[in-house]
Amino acid sequence: MLLGSIEAGGTKFVCAVGNENYQVQDQIQFPTTTPEETLRKTVDYFNKFKIEALSIASFGPIEIRKSSDNYGYITTTPKPNWSNTDFVGYIKKYFDIPIFWTTDVNGSAYGEYVMSTLSNEKINSLVYYTIGTGVGAGVIVNGHLIGGIGHPEMGHVLLKRHPDDLDFKGICPYHGDCLEGLVAGPTFEARLGIKGQEVATDHPVWEIMAYYAAQAALQTMLTLRPSKIVFGGGVTSEQFLQKVRIEFKKLLNDYVQVPDLDQYIVTPAVKNNGSATVGNFALANKILNE
Ligand code: ZN
Repeated sequence: MLLGSIEAGGTKFVCAVGNENYQVQDQIQFPTTTPEETLRKTVDYFNKFKIEALSIASFGPIEIRKSSDNYGYITTTPKPNWSNTDFVGYIKKYFDIPIFWTTDVNGSAYGEYVMSTLSNEKINSLVYYTIGTGVGAGVIVNGHLIGGIGHPEMGHVLLKRHPDDLDFKGICPYHGDCLEGLVAGPTFEARLGIKGQEVATDHPVWEIMAYYAAQAALQTMLTLRPSKIVFGGGVTSEQFLQKVRIEFKKLLNDYVQVPDLDQYIVTPAVKNNGSATVGNFALANKILNE
């Protein structure tokens, strides 16, 4: 059986086909250009295979409420040309198969959740953050994605400012200094005038970044009490998470018990940014069996 995965990122699309055991059998990636060109390439790719179901994990914001006229759309994204794009509608014209539609981070969260349960970790919930060009999080509770009026937007929560960072206004076009506005990849250039890749690992900015990421993780832990918090994305590394754990411990101040932080706040179990693809295969399989 073949299942399809579309990881639709703001920078690139990763399309893959695989089986119900989440093994990738073929994969392609191409840059995210215009919707017409990018979706055309996506359809051309899947036309080469006989897939039985498909899952799309997309950058957003997106409309996930089935009751909405705009279900399946990318809605108000600041990414040029993509706002109000009928993503699912376009794909459905070419493939008459079950299609699961969710956010990129929900796809990754689901992939991490599935891998954790497969390795017999006793978990019932998981939060996946990405810190890259943007910041977002996906949430799984008891095996389900959550959201009522829409999907979670945990990249835009507001935080206490670091005392050494008060002059920085943040880069979110909507909120300035929300989480994304303070820790997304482009903040390196906005704060320091140099790209993230050129910032030394011992630069003090990492303490500031860790302070904010730890606050996000703390609030998520206090709100949802998830079994595990995973951080992925280009800005994240094990070295960075070591700082995040230290800040998290200070902020929590022993208020409630949490698992060993080395196992609680972690990098992805699926390597090479593969979490969303695994999640998509699992979600496509799930929708096929519903
Ligand atoms: Zn924001």
